[in-house]
Amino acid sequence: MHRSSRLIGLASVCFALNAFAGSGHDAHWGYSGETGPDHWGMMKPEFATCASGQEQSPIDISSANKGDLVKIDFNYKASPVKVLNNGHTIQVNFGAENTIKIGSQTYKLLQFHFHSPSENTINKKAYDMEAHFVHKNDKGELAVIGVMMQAGEANKIVDSVWAAIPKEINKEEALTAQINPSDLMPATKQFYHFKGSLTTPPCSEGVNWFVLKDAINVSADQVKAFVATVGQNARPVQALNKRSVATSN
Ligand SMILES: [Zn+2]
Repeated sequence: MHRSSRLIGLASVCFALNAFAGSGHDAHWGYSGETGPDHWGMMKPEFATCASGQEQSPIDISSANKGDLVKIDFNYKASPVKVLNNGHTIQVNFGAENTIKIGSQTYKLLQFHFHSPSENTINKKAYDMEAHFVHKNDKGELAVIGVMMQAGEANKIVDSVWAAIPKEINKEEALTAQINPSDLMPATKQFYHFKGSLTTPPCSEGVNWFVLKDAINVSADQVKAFVATVGQNARPVQALNKRSVATSN
């Protein structure tokens, strides 16, 4: 009796996993071994750009020329958010309107999420973590702001997000406190700008990247807690190819 009910339990777990994998959720890619970044482009036809793309992210930023874009206008405010562990990262989803204006384009903040170590590197230096603020304009174009995080003092926003991480994968948990995304950014917002891609499958290109030059702090314990929850999740840097990096000053 006991044994058979356990077997039924296992069978339904397997079925659930298969149904999950077949539903279009990319449950199989990861960051090491046969499902690691070197294999993403071969895993599915939809992931081909991960291998064939010429403007892939992340990159190492080691030289930059003065660009035309000098600033990003931030229109961020304290907002209700939901926290999610999607199995690859911890993500904070925004419902309220937070926007940035770059040149003539307005982009709406969808979410931010984290990587450890940082994905982009500056002069070959990887930081302890990197936060990605993902924005979309009404043409569906993406602008991602990368914020480097260096081990030092603990970060209060990170504390409240980590405390709300749901045990279950892909289950959103509302945070009781509101978050102002600018509280997770440095005061000075000089940036590097380049064209790139999503750093996860399907590695779609056409993403406008802005990596802020100044880092913020996160404690070593906060980094450790993140890695204990989702593991290290940085795609290695990709070839720059014909691209160049512009700097805001
Ligand atoms: Zn990211």
